[in-house]
Amino acid sequence: MAEEGECSKLTIINIRRNLWQFGSIYAPQTRIGRKRTVTPQMAETLCHHLEKPGLDLDEMAVYFASTVITPAFDNSEQAIPDVVRPGTPVISAAKVRPQTGSHPSPTKTDNTHLHACGWLEPPCMWNSTVLPPGTYWGQYQDITKSNTHLSVAERLWVAWYAWVQNDVLATGIMSFVIHEFFYFGRSLPWIFIDSFGFFKRYKIQSSKVPSLREQWDCAKFVLLSHFTVELPQIWLFHPMAQFCGLSTSIPFPSPWTMTYQIAIFFVMEDTWHYFCHRALHWGPLYKAIHKVHHQYSAPFGLTAEYASPIEVMILGFGTVSSPILWCAFTGNLHILTMYIWIVLRLFQAVDAHSGYEFPWSLHHFLPFWAGADHHDLHHEKFIGNYASSFRWWDYLLDTEYTPDALKRRREKKVKANKAQ
Ligand SMILES: [Zn+2]
Ligand SMILES: [Zn+2]
Repeated sequence: MAEEGECSKLTIINIRRNLWQFGSIYAPQTRIGRKRTVTPQMAETLCHHLEKPGLDLDEMAVYFASTVITPAFDNSEQAIPDVVRPGTPVISAAKVRPQTGSHPSPTKTDNTHLHACGWLEPPCMWNSTVLPPGTYWGQYQDITKSNTHLSVAERLWVAWYAWVQNDVLATGIMSFVIHEFFYFGRSLPWIFIDSFGFFKRYKIQSSKVPSLREQWDCAKFVLLSHFTVELPQIWLFHPMAQFCGLSTSIPFPSPWTMTYQIAIFFVMEDTWHYFCHRALHWGPLYKAIHKVHHQYSAPFGLTAEYASPIEVMILGFGTVSSPILWCAFTGNLHILTMYIWIVLRLFQAVDAHSGYEFPWSLHHFLPFWAGADHHDLHHEKFIGNYASSFRWWDYLLDTEYTPDALKRRREKKVKANKAQ
């Protein structure tokens, strides 16, 4: 149906919910939001597919209101109580017209059939034992009742969009909260490790342990940057994602689809990062932009995003545009995959700046993985090791800065001198 109406499944669910709750295909405008757009094609498709194809949308609203409000609707106005739900308008008896002519009034049989159909189960009656639909958990309960086939994560997801009633806002808030939560959440263990001196023997530059003051100053700078530079960008994220065809609907993609897509994004971002980062080490660009990030020659977790706003935009572009580009070519990307990708990329960036090299670090098992060992040397020596996640670009273009690479370069030089 969503395909026919040229909209997402979530939109169809929302329109149905609006019919149930508000007696209209539109939800009332929220203080911060806008009315959902329902195109004539979407409305027509909806009419075509509903249980009573002969009814138009207005009549459908009446039909739903009657079946929802009084399951044993007897067609008399007295039998229809006013239903007042916090945060929603009143659906009054006056709004519910008695049905006549070719549209028979709903009967108990109709109602049973609606239940059997699954998708049209009426939402719960508002009473003291049930959370009001005006709250997030009220929405969740409603959705759970009528969509038992959805997973818990999918219900939480749909309830979020249904509750906010504004997709731009819903995506914007979710993106920002995910970013803050996982960036600072992932940095927290490293702050404890540095402060309490755990794993001291695994610290790469053991004489340069950051003080709490230094970490706090860094956190303040990063927070300021997030609120001034990244917040407005996140705001534009949903319109951009929609323009590029990213899906926000349910069901979620399979774990396999998410895994292979995220692996591709890692490779794409690493390539972008390598060349841009290398360019940022060119004298004028270094002085004007990248110097800020190199303020800490011994990095710690929080320094991952300690950078000039221009650098945040240049390097952040690789993280955001890799999935967007993928979606533009394949048309197959869910916004959840993008969120998981961004979280993993945040983990990679924070861990690469942690300053600790463990015997169990990932690059011991995946030799092409960069990790802290690779990036710490970049901060210490200001040269080489430009890539973010993998070692192959530095290896191929001979910009690796490791004892092995230095030895290799020295031997090459000696050989060249001998040959002359
Ligand atoms: Zn650098
Ligand atoms: Zn760095």
